[in-house]
Formats: sequence, structure tokens, C-alpha cells
Amino acid sequence: MLDLKAQYRVIKDEVLARMMDVVERQQFIMGPEIVELEGQVAALSHARHGIACASGTDALLLPLRALDLRPGDEVITTAFTFFATAGAIHNAGGTPVFVDIDAATFNIDPARVESAITARTRGIVAVDLYGQMAPMEQLAAIASKHSIALIEDAAQAIGARRKVGGAWRMAGEMGTVGTFSFFPTKNLGGWGDGGLVTTQDDALADRLRRLRLHGGAKQYHHDEVGINSRLDSMQAAVLLAKLPHLAGWSAGRRARAARYTAAFEGLGPVRAPVSDPANEHIFHQYTIRVDRRDELRAHLQARNIASMIYYPIALHLQECFAHLGYQLGALPVTERAMAEVLSLPIYPELTEGQQDEVIQAIREFYG
Ligand SMILES: *Cc1c(COP(=O)(O)O)cnc(C)c1O
Repeated sequence: MLDLKAQYRVIKDEVLARMMDVVERQQFIMGPEIVELEGQVAALSHARHGIACASGTDALLLPLRALDLRPGDEVITTAFTFFATAGAIHNAGGTPVFVDIDAATFNIDPARVESAITARTRGIVAVDLYGQMAPMEQLAAIASKHSIALIEDAAQAIGARRKVGGAWRMAGEMGTVGTFSFFPTKNLGGWGDGGLVTTQDDALADRLRRLRLHGGAKQYHHDEVGINSRLDSMQAAVLLAKLPHLAGWSAGRRARAARYTAAFEGLGPVRAPVSDPANEHIFHQYTIRVDRRDELRAHLQARNIASMIYYPIALHLQECFAHLGYQLGALPVTERAMAEVLSLPIYPELTEGQQDEVIQAIREFYG
């Protein structure tokens, strides 16, 4: 799906130089690279604050912890996402409430969010799935109307943007918080785990900084019980070396997406991904909808072509959430997507020749 070695060959010297700075300084925890990275990701995301942490999962958990959820408090989210989105709600003490998605973009449907709000609703977690932003301005209006938090899980969408009222708004800009992951396969990946939270709210930023350091702003003074969730200086060094390349990499992904889409035009059973016209997509994934999906996947596999199903089992149907009582049929748009989606190899170093092999194999399958 991804050739990280191809990227490594290009950026090796820049990354190793920044890593050696950390080695020479021997400040492996909360070194100056952390503040530098926080500033750069906040600036990219049009946010006042960036708070680095240990993973994209913790980037969700920390602001959810800051909501001080009580048993029975509800957080509305999508079931068509990576597990961490809902796992973090549960681990922060809340109850995930799953609502259906928009059939075109796979992102959470604001109308469904609005009708799921109850007296116990404390927040919304929207996901910018596959690299295009959820309709954040619509979700922000709902959150503000009901005085609840809006968390934008932008793990797949760093640098993605959306035109709202004639102005570009960034992933991580419009929610109460935005959350990012630097897992190695994400568009900006570290050489290990990492995450970051953005926010415009000064008081919330302070609280998140405390929560990631065992709840104490001052060493050995604990205002509340937090967790240990720091980003390594070494990971920050890797990310700082990679960050100047991100815009070019995103453009490379968009070009490859456009090439796939042009090739699939007129190929009836293959429905190319749909970008909301307001969005500039960064194509973390290029995900088609097809008939006979599992057969196509086997056909590709037999030709040594990788493909992945994100996500084969939506979260409302996971065993660990059986106690929430969702049955098959509860979220029909999500369930149809589960059965039809297939993500194809897409990354900036994917060559035309490699891409042609994928296209050819799909054409061959549908005759
Ligand atoms: C990757 C991802 C996460 C979790 O990030 P980690 O860094 O792996 O903990 C959360 N949400 C979404 C949508 C993701 O894709």
C-alpha cells in the first residue's frame, strides 16, 4: 500500500541531521524540538496552540478527559473510522453514540448528529476520513447551539483544507480541538508513534499540557490526575525534517488520485471517490466503491497488488460495543460502505508504471 523506503531514500540526510542534534544535546524528553514542532503544526493548522503527545489515540483521549465525562454522558461520532475514535470516548468515561455517514464523502452526516443530541450529549467527534474534511462549519454551528464540544479527528487529514464563506479553513482549525496522528503510515509519519492536539482556546491548551504530564504544570505538584503522554524529541526531529515536504507530498497524492479517477471514468462498476466541492483532499487513502469487492481484492492479490478495506467492520458492530445494543441495519449507509469500499495504493512516490498495473488489473477484472 505504501513504500516508506522510497521516501526514506529522499529525506534520509535531512532526518538524520536533525536526529543527531537530539543525540548531541541528550535531551530526549520535552526538548526544544517539541516546542518547534508544536508551533509549526499549529501554524499550518491556523491554530493558536499545538500540544504534542504520544499518539493520535492520546490526542483524542486528552481532550475527551478534559470534558470530565460522568457515567452516561454521550459523545456522538461516526462508526466508519479507525477504532481509536470511539475507543478514546470509552476510555475517557463516555458513551459513544454512533450516527450514520454521508454516502458520497463517508464523513459524519450533520443532520444525523443534530437528531442524536440528548440532554446527556457532551460532545461530537467528527473524523476527516481518508483525508478530506468533515463539514466542520456545519458541525461547529450544531456544537455551539447546544454548548457541546467539537473534536475534529484529523489523523488522516493534516494540511487538508476547506473553503468556508470564501476563505480556506484548515483541518484542526474549526473545532474545540483538532487531533493529529504521526503514525508512520499517516501523511506526515514519524519513525514511531506520535500525536498532536490543536486548539484556539488558551485555558484548554494549558489544561491539555498538564494532562499529558500527569496533571502537573509544575514538577511534583499535581492539580489533577493526568497521564504520561509526551512526544519524544527524536520523533519531533523526524517530523520537523519531513514537514517542509508535506505540501509537495499532498500535491503528489492529489495528482495520482486524479490519474486513477480519469482511468476509471466509464468503467461502470468502479465508483471513484467523491470530493466535497468545498474540500481540498489530501488523499490519505484513495478509496473506490465497487461491486464484487472481495473478488476484486483477491484478483489484485493474485497479481501482487496491495489493497485494503478501511473499514471491514464498523464500530457499532464491534464485539466490545455489543452492550450499546446496535444491530445490523442500524446505520445503513455505513454498512453499505463496509461492503463496497476498497483502498488502492496511493503515495507520492508511486510511479506511473506501478499505477498503470493497478488500473490494468482492475480493468481486466471487470472485462
Ligand atoms: C490513525 C488514526 C488514529 C489513531 O492514531 P494513532 O497514532 O495510531 O494512535 C485515530 N483516528 C483515526 C481516524 C486514525 O486514522
